[in-house]
Amino acid sequence: MWLLGKPVADEILGQIRTLVQHTTGGGRRPPRLAVVFVGDNPASAVYIRQKERAARTVGIETDVLRLDATVRMGDLLAAIDRLNGDPTVDAILVQMPLPAGLDADAVLERVGAHKDADGLHPLNLGRLMAGAPGPRPCTPAGVMALLAHYGQETAGRRAVVIGRSRLVGWPAAIMLTQAQATVTIAHSRTRELSRLLSEAEIVVAAAGHPGLVTAEYVRPGAVVVDVGITRTADGLRGDVDPAVAERAAALSPVPGGVGPLTVAMLLRNTWEAYSGAL
Ligand code: NAD
Repeated sequence: MWLLGKPVADEILGQIRTLVQHTTGGGRRPPRLAVVFVGDNPASAVYIRQKERAARTVGIETDVLRLDATVRMGDLLAAIDRLNGDPTVDAILVQMPLPAGLDADAVLERVGAHKDADGLHPLNLGRLMAGAPGPRPCTPAGVMALLAHYGQETAGRRAVVIGRSRLVGWPAAIMLTQAQATVTIAHSRTRELSRLLSEAEIVVAAAGHPGLVTAEYVRPGAVVVDVGITRTADGLRGDVDPAVAERAAALSPVPGGVGPLTVAMLLRNTWEAYSGAL
């Protein structure tokens, strides 16, 4: 079975659209997401256009603040402060990666925790750890939505998350644990990934290594979510070898799997930031 992201994302976007229509129909201004784009990374430009397009379909306004790659850290932080203080901006997204020389951690921490569209502010990561409400990191939240939509049980299952980044791997492992899975985190220093995979009933691959997960190591009947996206000469490639589809019970494709859900979760966080401030 293919775990296709678009139908799940469409359902979430439909819910947000209805909520936005309801509030704006009552005379309120629409939600507004500010996107900070530093430099001119072409992949980032594509992602930002996707986010703007999806936001438009649900009635969320977007503003892209473009800053030169040579911007000084102080000026970038001052720009974020202005957005934090702007009552017409509900949520802020700083598009990653930032050009070399800029401190991404300091930037993520500067975004007001109540306007944190990406759910990556340390306070919101703490809320995730505590199981308290708050914006969740978009991609792992998308992984969980994908599993839930396709009725994939997590409770009591053995899961392996490949990757331990703040953006994907770590929060995915926390969310799976909270959903009652027994989770092992594999990373670049892990030995015997193949043995871990052979026991895993759920695999979430987020390493950014095309073809890292091969069919021979995957347990027959496993559920495999491929988060990896790498641009190659042959197009976008995930971390999972396509031959895994013949062995796994379910696999998310790249592209068309987790990607659309990341955007849907960003807009859900934006809606929550807006409606929480109403
Ligand atoms: P990252 O580079 O920050 O982290 C990669 C992680 O993988 C690290 O923790 C590293 O230890 C681990 N790793 C690397 N090689 C490994 C190996 N051989 N075996 C086991 N672990 C290994 O990357 P990230 O930001 O977490 O993103 C991971 C992938 O997910 C990338 O391909 C990225 O493009 C993709 N991604 C997709 C979406 C989406 O919407 N679908 C969103 C974010 C990231």
